[in-house]
Amino acid sequence: MGPVAERQKLPPWLKVKLPTGPNVARLKEASRSRGLSTVCEEARCPNLAECWGGGTATFMVMGDTCTRGCRFCSVATAARPSLPDQQEPTKLALTLKEMAVEYAVLTTVCRDDMPDQGASHLAACIREVKKTCPGMKLEMLLQDFRGDTKLLETVLEAGADVIAHNVECVERLTDKVRDAKAGYRQSLDILAHVKKYLPKTPTKSSIMLGLGETEGELVQSFKDLRSVGVDILTLGQYLRPTGSRHHLMVEQFVHPDDFNRYGEIAKQHGFKYVASGPFVRSSYRAAELFIKGYLAHAS
Ligand code: SF4
Repeated sequence: MGPVAERQKLPPWLKVKLPTGPNVARLKEASRSRGLSTVCEEARCPNLAECWGGGTATFMVMGDTCTRGCRFCSVATAARPSLPDQQEPTKLALTLKEMAVEYAVLTTVCRDDMPDQGASHLAACIREVKKTCPGMKLEMLLQDFRGDTKLLETVLEAGADVIAHNVECVERLTDKVRDAKAGYRQSLDILAHVKKYLPKTPTKSSIMLGLGETEGELVQSFKDLRSVGVDILTLGQYLRPTGSRHHLMVEQFVHPDDFNRYGEIAKQHGFKYVASGPFVRSSYRAAELFIKGYLAHAS
């Protein structure tokens, strides 16, 4: 992890006590006992109790090690991580059934080292979960498959209810913030292809604030995402995962009032739903509640 940079003092609105409680402990045990990792725990997400208590959870599949090294992400990195657990689709489906959540999000590391970049494994996870938990809504937060739409379609065919892919930051900051294999235009192309391939499936993206973006750049990102048909947007505060120099410093702690204002501006661009706030993460309970309602009406 390299030399450690100085810690950054959090503003009052970001100081929260991390969640505990019997329900959280029980659900943690359910996933750990099957060797599964939840993003909620990995990222020490302050919303964990609210989400888990409210029936939503986020799992990271294909292992806990990525072949990329984005400078905002706390996930471990390696050139050749161990192959995904072939039993993962079943373990995941059983854990979600046990957790009895109404809405689940699957996210994934990138596996640039695998011939299909993990597309068939992801599809197997989605199919097994949908088969075992038919009443539950499932969101797949995808990687970019380096723009390979054939691999993307392999996952889209599996039947997730919502497809998400994050641009993560405004275009100008992409090279500094994301791994060199990622790209802002590449991500927009992926989102455009999802909407073309599955016109009725809601799409979702997320932008972190506080990395040095200007308001003008943010609004341009709203326009770019709407131009490829993105329905749902989440805006949250970038928080530095560790003190290592690999992880970018927070350039600005954006005030909640500004988050509200950006949320209103985004809504004016035609998103069906926008969640904007310091603690909002790409998988965020309020958004999921909306999506559940939206899907209920759409079907
Ligand atoms: S692609 Fe980037 S953001 Fe995603 S898990 Fe890998 S390092 Fe993290």
